[in-house]
Amino acid sequence: MQNIARLRADTPGCEGRVFLDSAGSSLPPRIVVDTAIAHLNREAEVGGYRAANERLDDLHAVKTAIGELINADAATIALSDSASRAWSDFFYSVPLGPDDRILISGSDYASNAIAALQRARHAGATVEPIPSDSSGQIDLDALDAMVDERVKLVSLVHVPSNGGLVNPVAEAARIAHRVGALVLLDACQSAGQLPLDIAELDVDALSTTGRKWLRGPRGTGFLYVRPELAATLEPQRLDLHSAEWTGPDTYRLVDGAERFEFWECNVAARLGLGAAVRYLLELGPNQVYQAIAERAEYLRKTLSEIGGVTVRDRGTQHAGIVSFTVDGHEPVDIRDRLASANITVTVSHRGSTLLDMRARDLNSVVRASPHCFVSFEELERFIGAVALLAS
Ligand SMILES: *Cc1c(COP(=O)(O)O)cnc(C)c1O
Repeated sequence: MQNIARLRADTPGCEGRVFLDSAGSSLPPRIVVDTAIAHLNREAEVGGYRAANERLDDLHAVKTAIGELINADAATIALSDSASRAWSDFFYSVPLGPDDRILISGSDYASNAIAALQRARHAGATVEPIPSDSSGQIDLDALDAMVDERVKLVSLVHVPSNGGLVNPVAEAARIAHRVGALVLLDACQSAGQLPLDIAELDVDALSTTGRKWLRGPRGTGFLYVRPELAATLEPQRLDLHSAEWTGPDTYRLVDGAERFEFWECNVAARLGLGAAVRYLLELGPNQVYQAIAERAEYLRKTLSEIGGVTVRDRGTQHAGIVSFTVDGHEPVDIRDRLASANITVTVSHRGSTLLDMRARDLNSVVRASPHCFVSFEELERFIGAVALLAS
């Protein structure tokens, strides 16, 4: 990977502040911002249609780059405007009937759980959480014991929104597939930090957002759908891009994951997402992951040495999210006090990961998520500021 000076020079936003919110909405590299702005300017000159036509190859290359990142074919990728949109586009296309079962992760994300509850209510199906083991990860034995052929879909969250654990996805997928259930992976907090390989993960679908660890523009995301499966699923909503009007009473779905896309989109943002993914590929996803993991591990270690600070991360394999609380201080106050020192962290609230937070009797946690462009000197500044607040 490039040295840190180069990474920081590529990231204009990082100077003069300590940015620890790549789990929320990261700082994009300059190439991402430049790509998106250049396209907006071109649209203003020649109109959106001609501007897009000039970039058809580059637009297709966005999916090629994403495919390279996750080891999948470009035709298996649908571009989307958020992770939740991508997740639900797939989820609502899976047939569901009375007495069917949907399993969700113990640290699943609120939007996924809400969609599951809504569909279950309409279909007469049930939603059941997979228990977490003593480390907080998906309990594989419990999952093994609870699956049967009534389970139609298992929602796995790779890395939860509220802490740095990494779930054993491939193992859980194997158990789900034994009974013929589909596996939908929420990779919102893993794409862009953990190397992702569809062949290894062996999930049926994967959703993620652009703005977090991938460092793309807001309003972007993508969905991967296993090719043989995409051919059998009909999205809940169609338009003239996802289907073709073939006769007065007929239409035909397009092939591949493209059937999960609508025609209209923010072309500038998509090109920006492509630039973000290419930038990551050039840095090397493994090196980026190493850099993030080192920073997060350092924060966990040093934070836990400060009196009154409790690191809340669970799991045995860790990722780049570091969650903690400070005795006698509300997490939102910690966030706001750090913000006045030009240090950006966020708060993860109970409602985002309700089951997990309830089980641990937590209302909220402070969330620090360093990307590879954050220097150790900046981490020291953050640690010093937390220590001061805790004392
Ligand atoms: C942020 C997040 C989402 C939602 O992403 P959007 O792009 O806001 O829809 C889903 N799952 C997890 C685990 C998240 O952290």
